[in-house]
Amino acid sequence: MTLILDGKLVSKQIREEVAEDVQLLIKQGVTPKLTVVLVGDDAASQIYVKSKERACAKAGIISETIKYPSDVLKQNVIDKIKELNNDNSVHGILVQLPLPEGFNESEIIELIAPEKDVDGFHPINSGRLTSGINDDYFVPATPAGIIEILKRYKIEIPGKHVVIVGRSSIVGKPAGMLFLRHGNEGDATVTFCHSKTKNLPDITKTADILVAATGKPKLITADMVKPGVVVIDVGINRIPSKYSEKGYKIVGDVDFDEVSKLASAITPVPGGIGPMTIAMLLKNTLRAVTVFGKKE
Ligand code: NAD
Repeated sequence: MTLILDGKLVSKQIREEVAEDVQLLIKQGVTPKLTVVLVGDDAASQIYVKSKERACAKAGIISETIKYPSDVLKQNVIDKIKELNNDNSVHGILVQLPLPEGFNESEIIELIAPEKDVDGFHPINSGRLTSGINDDYFVPATPAGIIEILKRYKIEIPGKHVVIVGRSSIVGKPAGMLFLRHGNEGDATVTFCHSKTKNLPDITKTADILVAATGKPKLITADMVKPGVVVIDVGINRIPSKYSEKGYKIVGDVDFDEVSKLASAITPVPGGIGPMTIAMLLKNTLRAVTVFGKKE
């Protein structure tokens, strides 16, 4: 029987745990606050930001979204981030990506104070993760969600061969760094694959744990995995569907129907890593308060 790694269920548990901790903080006089900066009108970003707002509200975290049109002056966004860095009532700052054309994302991310960088994308925080120095400062939410769901389902990581398909700095790379860390939640042997990798199936077939983060619908097919593999599907892809009212449906990077017949465990899409990401963002926001500042 294939174990379905239920991200909805696990993320609900995590969100309840966060909500309890938030209540303790509120009793101590501090209400955690997350500020999201949203530039432009990217449809997917609007949906993600709404679900972040809803999750914050349920957990008792104050959330604020500062919206700008796509033609806003870059300087206005820069000034706002600097203002938020100095605002003691704001514990976490997140700039929703992608930013519209004309913005240099790295330049904007680098402006966020590292102790408020709840996405963990600031080079100081990604450097911490890679160097192993203070490597749990802020870990990006999606990779953190991958490790957390494996942990909650008691799936062993040490000694396993983890193959990660995708090398983005948001998912693939930091996920690999987490699997490499010393200790029970790491100690894996990690192989990275990407769009220039030759003979991808030969490599994916050697995976004990396969992480797909490519944005290519159903890239991973049954002939690319070995029986018993644990599959983590990070992809969120819209494909046309005449059966859906919206005209599209969401699928992952893995051909779920076929691969799940061989896998020992697999995350579904939707309902896998997506909800885990939001739950881990809430955890990071809580951490921004408990570790870095209770000032209000
Ligand atoms: P990205 O576009 O930045 O990176 C994609 C990576 O996949 C690249 O490293 C590229 O080399 C690799 N790739 C592309 N085609 C490939 C191929 N044919 N063979 C092997 N490798 C290939 O994307 P990203 O930001 O890492 O996101 C990846 C996917 O995960 C997207 O579908 C995105 O929507 C989704 N995502 C989901 C969550 C979540 O919360 N579940 C969070 C972030 C991203």
